[in-house]
Amino acid sequence: MVNKFLRIFFPELCPVCKKPSTWHRTAPICDACWNEILPYSGPACQVCGKPLISDVSIMCGECISDKPPFKSVRSFGVYDGALKEAINLLKYYGIKRLSKPLSDIMFRIKMPQVDALLPVPLYKRKLRQREFNQSAIFARHLSDYLGAELLIDCLVKVKETMPQVGLSAKERAKNIRGAFEVENKRFIQGKTLMLVDDVFTTGATVRECSKVLKRAGARDVHVVTLAHGRWD
Ligand SMILES: [Zn+2]
Ligand SMILES: [Zn+2]
Repeated sequence: MVNKFLRIFFPELCPVCKKPSTWHRTAPICDACWNEILPYSGPACQVCGKPLISDVSIMCGECISDKPPFKSVRSFGVYDGALKEAINLLKYYGIKRLSKPLSDIMFRIKMPQVDALLPVPLYKRKLRQREFNQSAIFARHLSDYLGAELLIDCLVKVKETMPQVGLSAKERAKNIRGAFEVENKRFIQGKTLMLVDDVFTTGATVRECSKVLKRAGARDVHVVTLAHGRWD
């Protein structure tokens, strides 16, 4: 709490370039670093959007060996530099003012047409601790922007899972299995949905969510995330 006040009243150093940040809109990230957040334009997997080393292949190894339950994943940039800092400041330090400029970045992603959007949910105890779900904030801004329906509390997390950081792809998939359920199936039946999350790393979470949504009757599931991790 004290830290929160200190952050508001004293100019901070930009965590990326370590210079004082005076641009309130994205503080503590300075305007110079913010403007360096660029879309990823290199070769990427056509299904999950994973950055690829060469443009010889159009699909990553994982999508070839294990066909994903989602139709597509669109992300803005690579989870690195100022974009990574901004997401983590919002998520772990509760700097909510960053949710609007980050949503504005999300609007620049070329997105498929969908009937409704829904955020990747947090387990209720986690939500109480953090007080907000950053993915739900992005989903709300996006639904306003796209004029598409927003479904909150339709997909729910029913199991507390270990943090995915440090786990292998296989362990991640196992960790997240059975963690999500659909409530009020009628809201999603026959619909093309867009699942909204902050970062796509191995995709274990959105794979599991998409599987559950499809099983509950969704026609198709697309995924949109702000950033895409490089994962090899
Ligand atoms: Zn900076
Ligand atoms: Zn892929």
